[in-house]
Amino acid sequence: MTPTPTSGQRLVVKIGSALVVDTDEAGPRTQWLAGMAADVASLRSRGVGVIVVSSGAIALARRSLGLNQPRLRLEEQQAAAAVGQIRLAQAWSEALSAQNLTAAQLLLTLDDTEDRRRYLNARATLNTLLGLGCIPVINENDTVATTEIRFGDNDRLAARVAEMTQADQLILLSDIDGLYTADPRRDRTAAHIPVVQRITPEIEAMGGEPPPGYSSGGMRTKLVAARIATQAGCAMAIAYGHTDRPLSALEKGARCTWFLASPEGRSARKRWIAGSLAPLGALVVDSGAARALAAGRSLLPAGVRAVEGTFQRGDPVVVRALGGKALARGLSAYASADAERIAGHRSDEIEAILGWRGRDEIIHRDDLVLL
Ligand code: GLU
Repeated sequence: MTPTPTSGQRLVVKIGSALVVDTDEAGPRTQWLAGMAADVASLRSRGVGVIVVSSGAIALARRSLGLNQPRLRLEEQQAAAAVGQIRLAQAWSEALSAQNLTAAQLLLTLDDTEDRRRYLNARATLNTLLGLGCIPVINENDTVATTEIRFGDNDRLAARVAEMTQADQLILLSDIDGLYTADPRRDRTAAHIPVVQRITPEIEAMGGEPPPGYSSGGMRTKLVAARIATQAGCAMAIAYGHTDRPLSALEKGARCTWFLASPEGRSARKRWIAGSLAPLGALVVDSGAARALAAGRSLLPAGVRAVEGTFQRGDPVVVRALGGKALARGLSAYASADAERIAGHRSDEIEAILGWRGRDEIIHRDDLVLL
């Protein structure tokens, strides 16, 4: 069975500039945004956590800044993004608040999703916002992103966000209703593909060349996004966005392409934690904590008897039993010095000990792999 926007717990939806911005008016497409916000509200009311990744910052500002040439230099794009992002955030905030929803702006770069510490912070912020009932609205932090740390396109950014938040589904709203065997605008024999089980070289060849001009997306970046998302255990859809209520349309069966989540997806990150990271320290735990870990629970500071080595927040550590047996590996939510101070204490004492309120778990079960 192919997924639908309500069949998961957590949905990331990526929205391109052309949907959000009326380029003739150089303003936000308020009616479309209102419909989208209504779709988001409807999903939320059914318990689906929704994260929006929205482009449009550059498109919203370039005209008013007189930047009308088809290709902008990086610094011109960054300047336009600085002006347009305020307008974009305002447009989303207004559309969502009309549905009694609170918008939260996050601007991320590639670094934030690759560096472990930033990754943990960004993920914790996103989870907290969702827990508070907010709608995170994410864009690339264009103004600080140098060429090396740029995503450059929000398709990939959205896929990394889906991976980071362990979303079940990612929907890329686009000007096309899915993947075709060839470009349907040029080739009348092009056939629509409703479901992609696995991204093979044949599928990748269907991505074609990136579109000319200033647009950063195109089918190619969508396939890159599909690879990232599906390997992280998240299904991805490419769907047509130029309708009033695109997510409702999908629920009602509008045509799209679903890329199914790779069955071994969720475990890929765990393999990464288990295998490819050298532990920088150890947490020695009592038998109660060892039992909790074996039952699939997180590691709380109360069960930690000793901390070995020097590590920072987000670094990989090994979890050992008192007798020395290695039990698990995971990413520590606390630096070693802080871990030492909270070891043996209840989670509600963390704030009094450290002077700030960190995570309840010293290693969250999502960041933990049993050996
Ligand atoms: N971050 C860019 C913007 O908001 C868009 C990048 C993209 O569309 O892929 O204007």
